[in-house]
Amino acid sequence: MRNAYDASAADALVAQHPELAEALVRRIHTSRLLGGDPDLVLHGGGNTSVKLRQPDLLGRDREVLCIKGSGHDLAHIGPDGFAPLDLEGLRALRALDALSDEAMENALLVHRLDARAPSPSVETLLHAFLPSAYVDHTHADAILVLSNGPDPEAHLALALGPRVALLPYTMPGLGLAKQVGDAYDAASGELDAIVSLQHGVFTFGDDAETAYTRMIDCVTRAERFLSERGADPEVPSTPPLDRLRAARLVQTLRGATAEREDGGSTHRRAARVRASEEALHAASDPAAAEHCASGVLTPDHAIRTGNRVLYLPAVAEDDEALRASIDEALAAFGPEGARPDLALAPGVGLVALGKTPRDATIAADIGDHTLRAKRMATALGGYVPIDAGHVADMEHWSLQRKKLGGAGATPLVGQVAFVTGAGGAIGAGIAERLLAAGASVAISDVDAERLETVRSLLADAHGDDRLLARTCDVTDLAAVEDAYVDVSLAFGGIDVLVPNAGVAHVAPLEELDPARFQAVIGVNLMGTFHVIRAAIPIFRRQGSGGNVVLISSKNVPDPGAAFGAYSASKAGAHQVAKIAALELAPIGVRVNMVNPDAVFGDARVSSGLWDVVGPDRMRSRGLDPEGLRDYYRERNLLKVQVLAEHVGNAVVFFASELTPTTGASFPVDGGVPSAFPR
Ligand code: ZN
Repeated sequence: MRNAYDASAADALVAQHPELAEALVRRIHTSRLLGGDPDLVLHGGGNTSVKLRQPDLLGRDREVLCIKGSGHDLAHIGPDGFAPLDLEGLRALRALDALSDEAMENALLVHRLDARAPSPSVETLLHAFLPSAYVDHTHADAILVLSNGPDPEAHLALALGPRVALLPYTMPGLGLAKQVGDAYDAASGELDAIVSLQHGVFTFGDDAETAYTRMIDCVTRAERFLSERGADPEVPSTPPLDRLRAARLVQTLRGATAEREDGGSTHRRAARVRASEEALHAASDPAAAEHCASGVLTPDHAIRTGNRVLYLPAVAEDDEALRASIDEALAAFGPEGARPDLALAPGVGLVALGKTPRDATIAADIGDHTLRAKRMATALGGYVPIDAGHVADMEHWSLQRKKLGGAGATPLVGQVAFVTGAGGAIGAGIAERLLAAGASVAISDVDAERLETVRSLLADAHGDDRLLARTCDVTDLAAVEDAYVDVSLAFGGIDVLVPNAGVAHVAPLEELDPARFQAVIGVNLMGTFHVIRAAIPIFRRQGSGGNVVLISSKNVPDPGAAFGAYSASKAGAHQVAKIAALELAPIGVRVNMVNPDAVFGDARVSSGLWDVVGPDRMRSRGLDPEGLRDYYRERNLLKVQVLAEHVGNAVVFFASELTPTTGASFPVDGGVPSAFPR
C-alpha cells in the first residue's frame, strides 16, 4: 500500500486556511488520504480525530477533540465534517462502568463546542481515551481478511509485529473505548496500533504524518503477509452473460423486491449492478452459495449490505421461470418480507438494492470488497465469520442506524426514468425535474452533441451518479430495445417512461412533401410506439407498475395550419398512448399525456421544434425572437411564458402517483381556450 503523505501539499493546505487551527488542517489532509483509498475506507467508513488547545469565549484554555461527524466521508471531508468537543468532559466518562445508548448519544451532543457541528462519530469516546494528538481508524481490507481467516490472533501477531495490540471484538461504545484506552496504557505508550478483531485498526501519533504512516505500514504488513502466503491470487477472468439476459435478471429481481403497500402504492428500490471481475468470478465459484451465506467482514457493514447475500444460481432463459426462481430464492432468504441488499448471479455479478441510489452504490462497493476479502481468507485456509449475534446487535443499534440518511422530500427516490429527445429544451427540463425529484434518469437523443451539452448541464446541477446519457434513434425499435438494456444494467430497470422526442416540419398540405411527412411520422408517431412497445416486457418482468407520460402537444386538440405533419403525427402518438392506457392498466402501468404549448429553449439548450418553426412564425407575424415569445405569452389566459420545467413538473406529478389517473391529458399552456379538452 502506497504512503501518499505529501508534506508540501499539507503545508499548502495550511497556508490556504489561515482561519483554521493548523492541527485541524493537517488532520483534514491525512483524513482525505485515508478516505481516498478504497482498500482502507469505503463511503463514510472509518474515522479520524485531532486533539488541540483552544481558548473559549472567556479566553480560558480548553482541550478540544475534533472528531469526524457520523456518516461523513473522509475522502472529501472539510472543517465542517468535524465536530469540536470538550475533551475534559469526555475523558471524565472513562470512570463509568456502563453507559446506555441514550446517555452516550446525549453526552456526545452536549459536549459539542459548536451547536451547528455534526453528530460526533459513535467511536468518539475511544478517540478521547487515547492520549495521542492524532488518532486514525479504518476498516482496512487486509486487516479484516486476517481477522476473519484461520487463526486470526497468531496471523495478525506474525504479520504486524510486537508494537500492535490485538483486542477481541467488542461493539463500539464505552466498553470498547475503555478496552482500547487500557491496552494503550498497559503498553506504556509503546504501541503503533491497536486492532479490534473483526472490526478494524486504530493508529495514533503526536503528528498527522506519524498516525497516517503507522496506518499505511500496518496495512502494508498485513498485505505482504497475505501475498507471501499466496492468499492474494489474481482473479481469474470470467465471461459475463449476454447483456440482454443480465438485464432481464436485474429487472425481475428489482421488481420482485419492490415494497408494495396495502394502499396500492409501490416503493421501488434503487439498483446498481457491479459486473467486476471479482463479482463475476465469485458468482461462478463452486463455493458461491457458501460465500453468500457466510456473513459480513465486520458488523459495521451490516446496515449497508445485510449479513447475507441472495444467491441466484441459474439465470433462466424464460421470463416465467426466471421470476419463479427469484421468488423461490427470496422466500428461502429469510423471514417474511426480508429483502436482500445484495444479490449475486453467475454472469451478472453483484446487484445492489437500496432505498436511495447512494445506498445501492455503497452496498455494491462494500459487497465487491467483501467478495475479494473472502477469496483471500479462503486461500489462507478458510473464512471464519463473526458471530451473527454481534452482527445483529450492530445492525439494529439505534446509533448505527442514524448513519443511514433519509430520502428527504424526493418523491421519486428509487425510481428510474427514461426520457427521449432530451437534447432539446423540453426533454432537458423534464430530466432536470426528475433528477430533482430523486429519480435516476437516463437521457437519450439521436444527436450526440446536443445530448452531451444537456448531460453536462444536468451533471453540474445534480452530479452524475444518477444520470446516464445514451444516444438512441427512436425510429429504430431494436435501437430502443438496446438502450433499455444499458439503462437496466446501470439502474436496474425502467419505471417512468417519457416519450418526448419529436421533430417539426412547416408546410401546408398542398406543398407537403410526402417523404417529409413520412419522416415526421417516423419520429413522432412510430418513435412513440417503439418507446412504449419496447418497455412493456420490462414493465411485465418488474411487476411493479410504472408510468408512461407522453409529451403530446396543444396541437392535438387545437391544430394549426401549415403544421399538418406535426399535428397529425402527434395526434397519432396521443392515440397510441390512450390505447396503452387501456392495455397496461391490468399490470398497474398508468399512461398519461402532457400537452405543452410554446415552450422555447434558452441560450444553453434550444428547442428543436422552435428552431424549425420559429423563423416561419416570426416571418408570418413580422416579429423578432423576443416578440415571438411575447406573442405566445399574451395569447394564453394566464399571460405566462411556459417553461420546460413546467412540463417537467407535470411529469413528476404523474410519476408520483398522487392521484389514480390514467388516460388523461394535462395541458401545460397557460390556458388556451381553443385547446380545452372537449
Ligand atoms: Zn470502526
